[in-house]
Amino acid sequence: MSFRIFDNIRVVLVATTHAGNIGAAARAMKGMGHRRLYLVNPKTFPCAEATARAAGADDVLAGAQVFGSLAEALAGCGLVIGTSARRRSLPWPMLDPVACARRVIQEAEIGEVALVFGRERTGLTNEELDLCNSVVRIPADPAFNSLNVAAAVQIITYEVMRTAYGNDPMETGPRENTPLATAEQMAQFYEHLERLMIKIEFFDPDKPRRLMRRLKRLFNRVQPDQNEINILRGILASAEKAVRKRRN
Ligand code: SAH
Repeated sequence: MSFRIFDNIRVVLVATTHAGNIGAAARAMKGMGHRRLYLVNPKTFPCAEATARAAGADDVLAGAQVFGSLAEALAGCGLVIGTSARRRSLPWPMLDPVACARRVIQEAEIGEVALVFGRERTGLTNEELDLCNSVVRIPADPAFNSLNVAAAVQIITYEVMRTAYGNDPMETGPRENTPLATAEQMAQFYEHLERLMIKIEFFDPDKPRRLMRRLKRLFNRVQPDQNEINILRGILASAEKAVRKRRN
């Protein structure tokens, strides 16, 4: 199964001390459809303990990339989201996990996104947080708010998955083999739709009122695949034919 927009999302673990946590994080993210694991200065990696804790997510571990600094791991990224258990003295823009997931999905549709997780004992440094656009804090008992890093990965990737695909990813989400409609196919579809809407006098090109833009926004949100866009084109063609017949 392929969670297409997640191809643009990387999970970055900074200076993880316990190799077991790297494995557990790989397992956590794979369950939520994420595969891109970036490691910044892991203490030990690769490592049997990581593989053991990955429990079947060893493909994610095998594909993990290792970097010497967070900045390098963020190359090519637009949106960078840090995570922290603490409220910091200097306020970074804080998001809750749901708001974070919305931002991530929005952005992943057009560019690269990083979710950054810190060291077990001390989290992310302020210099590392300076590289982040926003920081997410998972709400927890204030007296015991520091989660295991893999647990934090689980929660954040879970929210991203739910925001992208709802409660049942099999139903609403990933298609197995059909590629998304291309930009060209979408442009042809919009032209066709516009033509028909003019014919049936739903759309007056002299008073456009942002109708096409709104419709484009709607279809961009849905990301139709090639089969789906063919069905829609078929409906438009039949509707055109019906209109023509009626007018003859
Ligand atoms: N004292 C550290 C705790 C580190 S826990 C701190 O303030 O961040 C290790 C990592 O797990 C953190 O760097 C963060 O990436 C993640 N994490 C743990 N608890 C979290 C929480 N409540 N909200 C968001 N991220 C959390």
